[in-house]
Amino acid sequence: MLDLVIIGGGPSGINCAIEAQKAHLNYVVLEKGVLVNSIFHFPANMTFFSTSKKLEIAGVPFISHSDKPTRREALEYYRRLMESYNLAIDFDMQVLGMHKKDGHYSISTSEGEYHTKYVIVATGFYDKPNLMGVPGENLPKVKHYYDEVHHYIRKKVMVVGGANSACDVALECWQKGADVTMAVRGSELYQRVKYWILPNIENRIKEGSIQAHFNTTIKEILPKSVILNTPEGEKTIYNDYVLAMTGYSPNYELLENLGLAIDTDELRTPIFDENTLESNLPGVYLAGVVNGGLKTNKYFIENTRHHADVIVRNIELKEGIL
Ligand SMILES: Cc1cc2nc3c(=O)[nH]c(=O)nc-3n(C[C@H](O)[C@H](O)[C@H](O)COP(=O)(O)OP(=O)(O)OC[C@H]3O[C@@H](n4cnc5c(N)ncnc54)[C@H](O)[C@@H]3O)c2cc1C
Repeated sequence: MLDLVIIGGGPSGINCAIEAQKAHLNYVVLEKGVLVNSIFHFPANMTFFSTSKKLEIAGVPFISHSDKPTRREALEYYRRLMESYNLAIDFDMQVLGMHKKDGHYSISTSEGEYHTKYVIVATGFYDKPNLMGVPGENLPKVKHYYDEVHHYIRKKVMVVGGANSACDVALECWQKGADVTMAVRGSELYQRVKYWILPNIENRIKEGSIQAHFNTTIKEILPKSVILNTPEGEKTIYNDYVLAMTGYSPNYELLENLGLAIDTDELRTPIFDENTLESNLPGVYLAGVVNGGLKTNKYFIENTRHHADVIVRNIELKEGIL
């Protein structure tokens, strides 16, 4: 039987694994995809908004070419951490549920069961895109994840949303020669878009390089067009691709299958003790951005780096090691 199972091999899961290893716990990380799977699926040319210094974990320097690292540099950083600590990670191991059995937790996965005394849930929020819920959303031309700009060169692209990702994607597509229209639900772009992006996109909209429809939602997506609900009425726009940058949310079905309690308020925050990060289940902890529920901009790598230390110290206390 294991001391600890960590569900999710993102920055938070990796950080917890390093702390667990330093504490000589017998642990394993279960990751449904590849190492730092969410970051691997971020836009190919993405640059973090945090400086590499603020992303560092376990005191290991994160060297990047400029102050803010790229996705590629981050992938290499986490790979080096995994290698140098020789972390125990089972990849392609999707956790499906959990139940308590004879005083320990039994975790069911796509490949079989794991038995453990303690569990850390660090599953992030990047697996479930917020759907628009409109006809045509399942057409192949609709993307909820943005990868490479190359697909969109000289194409008519509708970017849905007005926050950081939507602005980033709209600018990159426009710079590479796409004909970009934005559909923004609010009356303006999200005013907390990063300060080095907001004036750029606002100026592109002002000069007419990027078309933007505010107070606008998508009514229907058709193979060659999009119908918008605008304040002036319905508008049909010729279109090749819809990039729905409408955000993501934690996988609540999984959290419920694990037996975790969720707050019934609109943010649907998983319930945990602020001091120990222990959930409603004794010995089961929550780490990383999953802790913010639907408020996905509450936590990020920078402000969750201490989670690993808090949780592993609490496990040590329970074990009488501290
Ligand atoms: C585009 C974008 C840019 C961002 N930029 C920054 C930034 O600059 N700075 C910053 O601090 N934060 C940033 N964030 C926010 C956040 O820090 C990252 O999302 C970060 O990856 C969160 O780390 P995490 O370990 O909590 O979750 P994740 O990185 O999402 O890791 C969760 C892991 O759990 C795995 N998993 C999920 N379900 C299961 C299951 N059932 N079984 C097994 N494994 C499972 C996933 O595959 C994934 O690998 C950004 C987020 C986005 C979306």
